[in-house]
Amino acid sequence: MRGFAEAVVGLERWLLPPACLLCEAPVPARQGDALVCELCRSRWEPVTAPVCPRCGQPAFGDLECRLCAAWPAGLERVRSAVWLRGSARDAVHRLKYEGWWRVTEAMALVMTGLEPLTTGVFLIPVPLAPRRERLRGYNQSERLAAALGARLGLRVRTDVLRRTRATRTQTALTPDERLANVAGAFAATRARGLRAVLVDDVFTTGATLLAAAEALVAAGAGKVDAVTFGRAVSH
Ligand SMILES: [Zn+2]
Ligand SMILES: [Zn+2]
Repeated sequence: MRGFAEAVVGLERWLLPPACLLCEAPVPARQGDALVCELCRSRWEPVTAPVCPRCGQPAFGDLECRLCAAWPAGLERVRSAVWLRGSARDAVHRLKYEGWWRVTEAMALVMTGLEPLTTGVFLIPVPLAPRRERLRGYNQSERLAAALGARLGLRVRTDVLRRTRATRTQTALTPDERLANVAGAFAATRARGLRAVLVDDVFTTGATLLAAAEALVAAGAGKVDAVTFGRAVSH
C-alpha cells in the first residue's frame, strides 16, 4: 500500500509544479510533498498562552472571559492553533473554496500540540449539510480530522454526528443569531461514554461547536472538547 501511495504522490508532484500553494515559491524536495512551504507555515501566528481554560481565547488576568461567560454546558474546551490572518486565512480559503483539501496536511502539522488531542480520544469532524458537501465535493472538517488522525494515530468517527437540517451561512450573523441559527441542527448516535474531540477548520464564536457538543452530550458522550486550525481575529 505504501508503495502505491508513494507512487500517487510522485505522480501528483509530476502533474503539479512543486510550488507552495500559498506563496508560489518552489518547495524544496526535502520538504516532501508539502503543499505549503516551511516559510509560509512559520508565518502562521500561533494562539499563545495564557488563554481562557474553556474557550481558548486570550485571557487577561482574572477578568471573566467575555467570549464564553454565557455559553451553555456541554463543550468543555476549545483550542485553536493559529490566528486566521494572512496566509493562514488563505490556506482556509484554498481548502473551502478551491478544492485544495491536501492543504489539511500542513494545517494538521501545526495542530498536533493542542491540549485536547490526547491518547484515546476520538476525532469527530463537524458535519456539513449534505447539499453543501455535494457542492464542495468533500467536508473540509473531515479532511482535516483525517490528516490529524493519521499524524497522531487517533481514530476518526464520522458515524456519530450528523446534521439534522441545513443552516444559513453564519458569516453575517451576530453571536446570538449564530447560536439560534445552529440550535438543534445536529443529532448524535453511538456516542455513549465517548471521549470526543470535535474538529473544525475555523473557530469564530463557537456556536456551531456548542450545538454539536450538545448533541454529543445528549447521546451520552463522556467528554467533549474541540480543536480548530484557525481562530477568527475579532468578534
Ligand atoms: Zn509558501
Ligand atoms: Zn472563555
